Amino acid sequence: MTPQGAVRLKEGRDKKIRNHYPWVQKEEVAQTIDVQNGQLTTLLDHEGNFLAIGTYNAQSRFPVKVLTLQKESVDETFFLNRIKAAKTRRKSLLDHTNAYRLLFAEADGLPGLIVDQYADHLVTQVRSLGMETLAPLWLPALAEVSQAKSILERSDMAGRAEEGLPETVRPLHGETPDIVSINEDGLRLDIPVRTGLKTGYYLDQRNSRRRLADLVRPGDKVLDCFCYSGGFALHASRAGAHAVGVDIHEVALETARNNACLNNLEIPFVQANAFEFLESGADALGPFDWIILDPPAIAKTESKRDSLKWAIWNLVHRALPLLKPGGTLLVCNCSYQLTLENTLKTCRLAASDVGDQLYLDAVTFQDIDHPAPLAFPEALYLKCLWLRKA
Ligand code: SAH
Repeated sequence: MTPQGAVRLKEGRDKKIRNHYPWVQKEEVAQTIDVQNGQLTTLLDHEGNFLAIGTYNAQSRFPVKVLTLQKESVDETFFLNRIKAAKTRRKSLLDHTNAYRLLFAEADGLPGLIVDQYADHLVTQVRSLGMETLAPLWLPALAEVSQAKSILERSDMAGRAEEGLPETVRPLHGETPDIVSINEDGLRLDIPVRTGLKTGYYLDQRNSRRRLADLVRPGDKVLDCFCYSGGFALHASRAGAHAVGVDIHEVALETARNNACLNNLEIPFVQANAFEFLESGADALGPFDWIILDPPAIAKTESKRDSLKWAIWNLVHRALPLLKPGGTLLVCNCSYQLTLENTLKTCRLAASDVGDQLYLDAVTFQDIDHPAPLAFPEALYLKCLWLRKA
């Protein structure tokens, strides 16, 4: 596909693009010349010099998303090379699992395109009109590099509206089963790829689940709040801990119970609102050596940041009395909007209100299949604080 027309930036707005930041904001555009929504376009600096090639969508908060800083052809080979490079970046994960995020959009140089691999099957999410238009180029490249038996599009997320796109779930290639079995660090997990949250599983927490499994001692008591398909609880239990999982959604718990059964693990999975369960219910099962708090992305926008702070403060406040001295609270925050420092501060305020002292033993981030380029700070969204109670 050849770029159509051009977008010229205001003075001084070219530097961040040259430094590999992929998004142009509406306010940064000085002039558009013959551009069309969804099409490739050329990005120019304020003097009209070539800067980049990207996709254009006037409806988006970020009307240009950059694909390349080179004057190159954006064709099937272009996508083939980007996807191969992304696959190579994830090679080390193959020793641990056959499920990983193959493409993490902007962070892999392909704005708007998410692809998760579950064994022989792929699940995609398309988050921009540009990537939707470019599907005839990236889809064959994806099929070739992955050799996947099937590719399912799960673009059923609200964020699509921002790009003027409807939500959609459709087969792109082959036939995808409802459930795909994967292996993660020796555990067999059944993933509901059509109906599960995200594309079916929280691949991003893999390294933190492994860290928990490495650190728990046989007999430790573990409370996994917001457990979804059982991730942390399953790994802890297999390492010899007594784990309990809590989630508000019964369908998530059915998957979790099935996963426990598949691995001959006995884990009670309780359907409850984690906030209420921590307040009353959990005390009968505690005190715990480990409490995991992994709430969903409450703050997708800046305006919701305070709700997330409130949620974390409350969760920590309620969890601390249930934690043994020397026990660890794992506080996960998957929202870019609430920084690591502010998450720490929120935990500190909750702890001092309870009268407990906490030590930060470690911070873990999203696993390496969700790369975090420094040039694109938005990519680093998941922060997990390992807080030990004195
Ligand atoms: N820890 C999980 C991922 C958590 S996703 C893993 O490693 O796979 C967040 C989960 O929180 C979802 O399963 C959602 O159903 C659940 N959830 C949302 N609100 C909740 C609430 N108030 N109480 C308990 N669970 C909740």
